[in-house]
Amino acid sequence: MIITLNSNEPAAMNRLDFLKNLGLLSAGATILPKYLSSLARTPFSELRNGVGLFSMQGGTIGWYTTDDAIVVVDSQFPDPARAFVDGISDFGSGPEKVLFNSHHHGDHTGGNLVFENDGYNIIAHANVPGLQRKAAQNNDNEDAQAYAATTFDDQFRFDAGEETITAKYYGAAHTKGDSVIWFKNANIAHMGDLVFNRLYPFIDRNGGANISGWINLLETVAAEADSETLFIFGHGSPETGVTGNREDLLYMRDFLYHLLEYTQSAIKAGKSREEVISRTSFDEFPDHVSPSNFLSLPRNLEVAWLELTES
Ligand SMILES: [Zn+2]
Repeated sequence: MIITLNSNEPAAMNRLDFLKNLGLLSAGATILPKYLSSLARTPFSELRNGVGLFSMQGGTIGWYTTDDAIVVVDSQFPDPARAFVDGISDFGSGPEKVLFNSHHHGDHTGGNLVFENDGYNIIAHANVPGLQRKAAQNNDNEDAQAYAATTFDDQFRFDAGEETITAKYYGAAHTKGDSVIWFKNANIAHMGDLVFNRLYPFIDRNGGANISGWINLLETVAAEADSETLFIFGHGSPETGVTGNREDLLYMRDFLYHLLEYTQSAIKAGKSREEVISRTSFDEFPDHVSPSNFLSLPRNLEVAWLELTES
């Protein structure tokens, strides 16, 4: 199932397809070919000014092509990465090829090796390779990794055709290595997992996440955007999809703010950790979807509790 801005697909998708799209189910050899063959249309869609997105499995891929370059944000997993590098030739052929990793998570970097073998130069924030290596060691899949050969601390700019592409770091948020990739001419920004559009987010505390930092980041990025800026999100609910505007960033900020505020007042009222994390929804955010225990309010509250009590 594909979630795109101009989708003609029905808004509803079944739970299995939804989880696959998020990359939260491992796509076994028997499942994936069937899933691929069931795709009704191309996973590529164009947004505007040469920038588009690709959704198959895992975090949404963003792309830009011009006469002499292909610029990509995130690599999903090996199978979708292969489908991407094969299919993008319909839109452009390089020869210069660049892959940005918005952050280190496996559903955004799992296809890196495919891209590297296809001649892409991988670029990411300086914290990404270390976090990716640590996660790969824990998951015992170091052989399947390819790491950014070029890293940056604050920002990295790449000019191609009409476009100025800038990857910017705003501090710890979803992890301690997230960047926002801006396509200036198209007025499009790829948020990686800095927006889970109407989904309870994954807050990767082991990967250096910081909820307060995340709130500030969303406010800063929303202020840098204008009313026409189009955002690509790593993940979104079936209802709202993986693109949106700055109001969606501020809505996510409001959710994270409410999460911290709720937890803080519960701590002050002397509630136990167990009481706090037993809550499964907020009345103020009725449209938030929990596709699994992994992406749920109790998990979010647990991280908020730790952030507020340990720092
Ligand atoms: Zn992530």
